[in-house]
Amino acid sequence: MSGSTSKSAELLAHARTVTPGGVNSPVRAFRAVGGTPRFIREAKGPWLTDVDGNRYVDLICSWGPMILGHAHPDVMAAVQDAASRGFSFGTPSENEVALATEIVRRVEPVEQVRLVSSGTEATMSAIRLARGATGRSKIVKFAGCYHGHVDALLAAAGSGVATFALPDTAGVPKSSAGETIVLPYNDVSALEAAFAEHGDEIAAVITEASPGNMGVVPPAPGFTKALRDITTKHGALLVSDEVMTGFRCSGAGWFGHEGQQGESAPDLFTFGKVMGGGFPAAAFGGRADLMGMLAPDGPVYQAGTLAGNPVATAAGLATLQGCTDEVYAHLDSTAHAIADAASAELTKAGVPHTVQWASSMFSIFFRDGAVTNYDDAKDQDTEAFSRFFNAMLDQGVHLPPSAYESWFVSASHDDEAVAHVIDALPAAARAAAASTDS
Ligand code: PLP
Repeated sequence: MSGSTSKSAELLAHARTVTPGGVNSPVRAFRAVGGTPRFIREAKGPWLTDVDGNRYVDLICSWGPMILGHAHPDVMAAVQDAASRGFSFGTPSENEVALATEIVRRVEPVEQVRLVSSGTEATMSAIRLARGATGRSKIVKFAGCYHGHVDALLAAAGSGVATFALPDTAGVPKSSAGETIVLPYNDVSALEAAFAEHGDEIAAVITEASPGNMGVVPPAPGFTKALRDITTKHGALLVSDEVMTGFRCSGAGWFGHEGQQGESAPDLFTFGKVMGGGFPAAAFGGRADLMGMLAPDGPVYQAGTLAGNPVATAAGLATLQGCTDEVYAHLDSTAHAIADAASAELTKAGVPHTVQWASSMFSIFFRDGAVTNYDDAKDQDTEAFSRFFNAMLDQGVHLPPSAYESWFVSASHDDEAVAHVIDALPAAARAAAASTDS
């Protein structure tokens, strides 16, 4: 059982005086699940240790980046080596070329990438490029997909926006949101109808390659192909947001996993998380003719003081180099061991649930039946999830503190860590089953 959390509580109380809600990203505040967010002091392999000395098996993995586990020796060595030579130059440097080369090598349709510092910047820049390239302004996005906190993309967004049930976000002018068309995910007819009405005004469709921010909701068979066919027919670009799935679902991300080929490939991709190895590095990329429209070669401006940072790119490159076929096989078997055991215990406790997958990414929805879009995802028992979450936390397993997120495992999740998770499941399943009003 987890011990005292008094130091985390003290830190939170102080943090709230100097930072809104005491956190630097809303979901970390635990508002959806209740209780005290744990302030983590250090992490090694699959384990987190909080400021009170409690240990947890980590199933957040920093929301995806820590695919090799925390403080992996090869990544640590690369970071220390890079840091020993300086932190940031504001000039071109070798590591950024090496990281770009590795991304281009892995994701076949990507001929060039531009490095940025966050997934939000990657999607924001990809959209600007799509608008610049097409001379059109409208963007299609899908309800429940999250593409970072870009003004135009926050409508009906997943992740924290879903966690807090915000329909829209204050501070986004109508002029930005008005250019965004939000459609239900996995609905080809809705897409056809939107293009029938606005086809020659739509610059791009942006989609999570396989959504993970309303929980894991993979594309139905044929949906990705339909996105490609309809955008091509109307001269719009297809932007595949692989910030979460990139280099996690396979060595070439969801693109490699789903096996789109040749003409089915998206025009632009966005990446983040794994490619930064836990440091702020992200990217957008695609065909050289499109990417050539960016400054300094072309008219679409985009820049960043810390873009291509030498330490972040060293961490990202070492992480990608560590992502071998064996690592992907381990992620799959580990994720299945945990999800299968969780599902068995929930079934035993009589808790309705559905497990959904995108390669090794998975979510447990606390409802019966498949989840194909955001409306389905919202139709679940989030109270049951909260009870389950807190019972797992009490027993030293840190799940993502929201029912609308993927669970993540790493190469470092060994037998001991998996056994620790599995041991915690029966009590958590019973807690999920217990009605709050009984
Ligand atoms: N796109 C997707 C699919 C994401 O999952 C996220 C973050 O979770 C983002 C974009 C935004 O990335 P960042 O938080 O690095 O700005």
